[in-house]
Amino acid sequence: MNDRVDILGVKVDAVTMQGALERIESFFEERKPVIVATANAEMLMRATQDEELKNILNAAELVVPDGAGTVWAAHHLGYEMSERVAGYDLAQELMKRAPAKNRRVYFFGSAPGVADKAKIKAEKLYPNIKIVGTRNGYFKEEDEPQIIADIKAAKPDLLLAALGVPKQEKWLAKYKDELNVSVSIGVGGTFDVMAGVMKRAPKWMQKAKLEWLFRAMLQPKRAGRLIALPKFVLKVHSSKQKA
Ligand code: UDP
Repeated sequence: MNDRVDILGVKVDAVTMQGALERIESFFEERKPVIVATANAEMLMRATQDEELKNILNAAELVVPDGAGTVWAAHHLGYEMSERVAGYDLAQELMKRAPAKNRRVYFFGSAPGVADKAKIKAEKLYPNIKIVGTRNGYFKEEDEPQIIADIKAAKPDLLLAALGVPKQEKWLAKYKDELNVSVSIGVGGTFDVMAGVMKRAPKWMQKAKLEWLFRAMLQPKRAGRLIALPKFVLKVHSSKQKA
């Protein structure tokens, strides 16, 4: 199933985790550089005010529905979307499959030391995985040529970029043709969770669709960003009235 659902002007793929993995598998086989984005409500809201981000998402080869908000919006607009595909889970599934396919993975982003800790964790979780490089996500523009050269020299097949939204999407879109990487994905707080710097919501909260609440409780600094959620609900609703 390849249906793309328009949510506030962004085309989101109505894929399941299985479907997303199959699409990404075909991207690896084609070997052309592609961007996979993981669209949660906050990202979709941001795209309504950031034309560059919106264009990048609409040009991405795959945009998975990350989060209960995105799935709710699709249903509210009358589309079918069977499950959410969390960026964190997608990254884990891809890493799990990497050793058997001899795929090389690069961790780019998060605070100094975090990607290295995440690498150690990945090597424990996924025996024989090849994490061929790490680089923290705090850099100046003049550091970028070196970062690009390092990534190219490491020859990853999969680049996980955790620079936050929309920096990661913009960075990947700007450099994807230079990097010579098959699949690049913006993965937000994934390394923080893997390194144990940040916790993921307990399963019951994920099931109750309350992951956003858990994050706000843990990182009160982010709580202000929660205002995006009711705004998202209202905006989706009014876009439906207009349609
Ligand atoms: N981050 C980074 N460079 C930056 C800004 C953020 O590497 O310039 C990292 C940050 O350390 C964290 C990740 O990006 O590991 C996700 O950040 P945040 O949770 O703020 O972003 P979100 O994905 O929720 O927008």
